[in-house]
Amino acid sequence: MGFAGTIAGMGFWRRLADAIAPPRCVACNADVGEPASLCSSCWQALRLIEPPCCPVLGTPFPYDQGEGAISPSALAAPPAWDAARAAVAYDGVARRIVQAFKYRDRAEAGDSWHA
Ligand SMILES: [Zn+2]
Repeated sequence: MGFAGTIAGMGFWRRLADAIAPPRCVACNADVGEPASLCSSCWQALRLIEPPCCPVLGTPFPYDQGEGAISPSALAAPPAWDAARAAVAYDGVARRIVQAFKYRDRAEAGDSWHA
């Protein structure tokens, strides 16, 4: 079996796995088309962290506070690192994804963070 046959075989096993255990949203268990993915409502509910945000802790600012401004939390208790950044706010959907990975035996939840 050549490379093409291998790919076709993977498709077979993927279809078989989907028939036995259809892919589910890693946050809410709704039916989805792809494994390790989010349904459209969970995807829309993810709160992406975009600038302006604290350059040290990565927490979002309600408005642009100017070049070099850091959050009161970073000022009050400077962390050991220079800068940290999260892609999403750890609440709602993001929290459910992490909990699915850590506590509900949904290892594919870890793959759902890939773009
Ligand atoms: Zn969902």
